[in-house]
Amino acid sequence: MTEAAAVTVEAFRRPRIKPEHRAYRTVDGNVRVGSVIHGIGAEIADPQGWVWTLVEAMDGTRGPSEVVAEVLRGHPELSGADARQAMADLLAAGFVDDAEAPVPVPSREQDRYSRGVPLLRWMDLTPRASPWDAQLRLRAARVLLIGVGGTGGHAAQALVASGVGHLHCVDPDVVELSNLNRQPLYRESDLGRPKVEAAVATLRALNSDVTVTGERREVSGQEELTELLAGPRRAERLPCPARPPGATGRGSGGGGHRSLDAGPGHTCAPAGTEAEPPAATEAGPQTLARPASSSPYDLLVLAADRPDAIRRWTNRACLAAGLPWVDAGYRGPLVTAGVYVPGQGACWECLRDGEFARRDLRLGPGQDPETASPRMPWNPASAVTAGLSGALLAHAALALLTGIPAMEPGFRFGVNLMLPGDPVHQRTPRHLDCPACGERA
Ligand SMILES: [Zn+2]
Repeated sequence: MTEAAAVTVEAFRRPRIKPEHRAYRTVDGNVRVGSVIHGIGAEIADPQGWVWTLVEAMDGTRGPSEVVAEVLRGHPELSGADARQAMADLLAAGFVDDAEAPVPVPSREQDRYSRGVPLLRWMDLTPRASPWDAQLRLRAARVLLIGVGGTGGHAAQALVASGVGHLHCVDPDVVELSNLNRQPLYRESDLGRPKVEAAVATLRALNSDVTVTGERREVSGQEELTELLAGPRRAERLPCPARPPGATGRGSGGGGHRSLDAGPGHTCAPAGTEAEPPAATEAGPQTLARPASSSPYDLLVLAADRPDAIRRWTNRACLAAGLPWVDAGYRGPLVTAGVYVPGQGACWECLRDGEFARRDLRLGPGQDPETASPRMPWNPASAVTAGLSGALLAHAALALLTGIPAMEPGFRFGVNLMLPGDPVHQRTPRHLDCPACGERA
């Protein structure tokens, strides 16, 4: 049971129809509530007109009893229980919040997230005591990001701008001129600089309330991913500095594994604790019944497509650690993102095998399905495909971390720029004989 399930309208000081869900009356007298966006809105038959009186009374100026009294004043044939039940039903459907809910964040955060929180409230169909609950969950989240190129750079910006608590970035590369057509984290002045170093500096400058760390490192096998999931290597993490904003220069140049610890804006923990791996989030994603995870992270975000086996390694390492993960990428004009939660729905390998079967590739015996969609040494990409890919990836990550909107695990979705009107989605049941998550795995 989620914490939100305990929310009742009687506990609200001023129950109201969410501003983003404001009701209107159709020409035939029904009440439409929840905006007209497919997946959110609902239409309620209202032959006696009291539903309309109810939603009008729920404008945030009355307590629950006053709302009921207002409805009964206009419709004495009703009972108070009817009106209260209707109010509870509207709450259960996600249309109601408390106009006087306490705001549990300082004014600076209220201001910074004053557009994002209403969007979460808009998409949120779970009753909550405060629309800020989701933002607090985000603030408590620890995310491991593999790859800060086109997809990863866009996703990192979105996650940091949105207020994720801690983002740890891993990437082996340096910034090259051929990156700049699609990787907006970097400037010409960054050419030759390790990406992770430039990315961490830019991301810290974007939102100093977020703890951004990084390490320059190539992922060369599943064991290495397993090691990364356990948290940054203590010995490689540098002391938390009191650096002036904009200062840079650590971790530059040399290869190998370099670590960038928290920088300007980060509030240093007491000595002796700041170099610890991020602590496991107590709350965690609440709308997903997540398996117990052995990782200090809440989520892995995969934005690297090299080496070729990195998705399979990630799938297996996350299955073993019980850690949800998301990925995204593009094949030319086709951009997709995937959502995976160990123990819930298909894993990445189930989904990939299901997709190969569905597409009827007409391959000869023993022919590798990858043949049908060959990879090139260069991966054709633009600011548009990388931006879409990173945005979808960030959306999947935010949805898993906040539960808003509820996202189905074992699912890929996306857009085909050649046919933007066609839905792109892949889903398959979990395969019992899957080599990664099946019964014989
Ligand atoms: Zn599987």
